Amino acid sequence: MPAHVAIVGVSKFQPAAALAEAAAAGLRDVGENYVQEARRKFAIGPAGVRKHFIGHVQTNKAKAIAETFDVVQSVDRIEAALALSSAAHHAGKTLEILLQLNISPSERYGCPPELAEALAVKLRELPGLHLNGVMAIGPLTEDRDTLRQSFALAAAARERIGGAVLSLGMSADWREAVAAGSTMVRIGTAIFGPRPAVRASKE
Ligand SMILES: *Cc1c(COP(=O)(O)O)cnc(C)c1O
Repeated sequence: MPAHVAIVGVSKFQPAAALAEAAAAGLRDVGENYVQEARRKFAIGPAGVRKHFIGHVQTNKAKAIAETFDVVQSVDRIEAALALSSAAHHAGKTLEILLQLNISPSERYGCPPELAEALAVKLRELPGLHLNGVMAIGPLTEDRDTLRQSFALAAAARERIGGAVLSLGMSADWREAVAAGSTMVRIGTAIFGPRPAVRASKE
């Protein structure tokens, strides 16, 4: 197990005040899924936090994403990476990125594990981006063996691809993720409580 596991507080649909409160209590990394919602909340809030984009990267939002975030965890295809690379270049910054891997039949997005190395090679050629590891969303199951097998796929991909970060684990499965070698868990409901039923933002 890694000596240190970072916690990304996932604040989607939660009010800006909750995010500010968590930052004041010492949360150093925050994750948001929707760029418009994130911009609104970051504008009035939390100082000194590292901002992670964990939602699906739409190419027409790449500019806003590159301007708003420090890390994009959800790069799963070359089109998204090209758009982010160009946007980061124009913004004069280097974006840290993670390659999002698909390890679950219930997940729509993510690069299939067998294509991950080839994608990683291409990502490393793009200016304005720094590939630093792998992100994956576990399967929607409480079956520990299935979780373990899926997380092992992600850990193996990170070994092949390299990078310091294995972003794996959410409120329901972070224990299995950490056991599989996660260096970064993304925790929403276990920090902020259930997400409000009414979406704070629609995009
Ligand atoms: C919402 C979300 C999380 C947090 O989920 P919880 O189950 O509330 O901890 C983590 N990662 C991603 C990619 C998410 O979309």
